[in-house]
Amino acid sequence: MLPERFDIVISGAGFAGVALALALRQAADGALTVAVLDRAKPGAATADLRAFAISAGSVHLLQALGIWPLIESEAQPVTAINITGGKLESPIRQTLLSYDNHTEFGEPASYIVPAARLRDALMVTAQAAGLVIIPETMPSQLTVTSGGIEIVCAGCQTFSAQLGVASDGRRSSLRDLAGIKTVGWTYPQTAIITTVAHSELHNGVATQHFLEAGPFAILPLTGGHRSSLVWTEATAEAIRVMALNDADFLAALEQRFGGILGTLHLDGPRAAQPLDMHLSRSLASGRVAVIGDAARGVHPIAGQGLNLALRDVAALTETIIDTARLGLDIGAPEAMHRYERWRRFDGAMSAAAMDGLNRLFSNDNPALRAAREAGLGLTDRLPGLKDFFVAEAAGLTGAVPKLLAGELP
Ligand SMILES: Cc1cc2nc3c(=O)[nH]c(=O)nc-3n(C[C@H](O)[C@H](O)[C@H](O)COP(=O)(O)OP(=O)(O)OC[C@H]3O[C@@H](n4cnc5c(N)ncnc54)[C@H](O)[C@@H]3O)c2cc1C
Repeated sequence: MLPERFDIVISGAGFAGVALALALRQAADGALTVAVLDRAKPGAATADLRAFAISAGSVHLLQALGIWPLIESEAQPVTAINITGGKLESPIRQTLLSYDNHTEFGEPASYIVPAARLRDALMVTAQAAGLVIIPETMPSQLTVTSGGIEIVCAGCQTFSAQLGVASDGRRSSLRDLAGIKTVGWTYPQTAIITTVAHSELHNGVATQHFLEAGPFAILPLTGGHRSSLVWTEATAEAIRVMALNDADFLAALEQRFGGILGTLHLDGPRAAQPLDMHLSRSLASGRVAVIGDAARGVHPIAGQGLNLALRDVAALTETIIDTARLGLDIGAPEAMHRYERWRRFDGAMSAAAMDGLNRLFSNDNPALRAAREAGLGLTDRLPGLKDFFVAEAAGLTGAVPKLLAGELP
């Protein structure tokens, strides 16, 4: 059977893969043919209990793709961020840093959005746009020639394309088939994710409370009285916590809240996710570009993985569209180098920064404690530095691709 032919084949119909396919469809006005493969069965995904911190740049991209109106009513603007520290048993939460979370244009630098709503909105938009998404399909062989690629999928059809994109997550098959190596390690930490209701209003404030085992993040949800939690804990302790009955689990949460936000109630199930980190040694090789978690998996300490993935989407879309408009080969080394140069520094620096932050904060070494308190105290007194951090977290620094400014390339 002849291979099925597309201009671009994307492996992985997650957040990054579907956003890229939609961006290409809209920017090229249908002139490029795109297929998205995913190893999962349709509807097989387990419930995603997380809520994502989405930066202003990511919001602009979602607006440009028509996805934002579908989730806006459930997106809570983050008005301010409080970073606190102190020992678990201490009743006092020492504020290390607090800042207003608006960009220089007065828009919120980030929003909190339920992950499941974002996934639904991407899929609804993909369906309405008639995107080709092929489930239960996983690349098992890759052949690269000077004119294109051929992807053989285990037990099913073969695809040919000018360009392949690996967006198939941390254990990406297409990245591995393209010979791109990764470096990485696992953390002795697990994230516990759940939702709580609280008697006091959060007023849009997000809190990151640093404890010895890792950060305890309280992320405000719409309505004022609910928050999503990402509790990073030592893995052995996380296993114990996950087995607690609801009353004991609630008591453990109350101890970590330290009285802020009033009386707490559990408002949903809990989930646990072991944490690791990796970085691809390259973002492109032989007509395959790598985006999202396939390119890097970062610690969730600052809620940046998806934002980095959407920055990849924006830069790769613009690279492909500019190349196609010039009538050039979208998978040629020149295009791949441009994408790689655009995204390499930001991705690698962010992964290193998240890793460094986690190491600095997730322990009780007195010297490191003094260093982080001094560092944050200094930032608190230097408004210019805080503004820089807000702009950086908003994804609006450096050479910003058009989609992050809300425009199609
Ligand atoms: C606890 C936690 C909290 C987080 N909070 C935030 C946050 O607040 N803000 C933020 O920006 N980021 C956050 N992240 C990071 C975010 O979840 C990821 O960066 C994001 O999901 C990456 O999207 P992706 O599309 O690259 O990968 P995925 O979402 O992993 O999608 C990969 C897709 O590929 C498919 N697939 C997998 N293997 C194959 C294969 N071999 N062949 C074909 N298909 C395959 C999968 O079925 C899936 O559909 C958090 C992460 C964790 C763990």
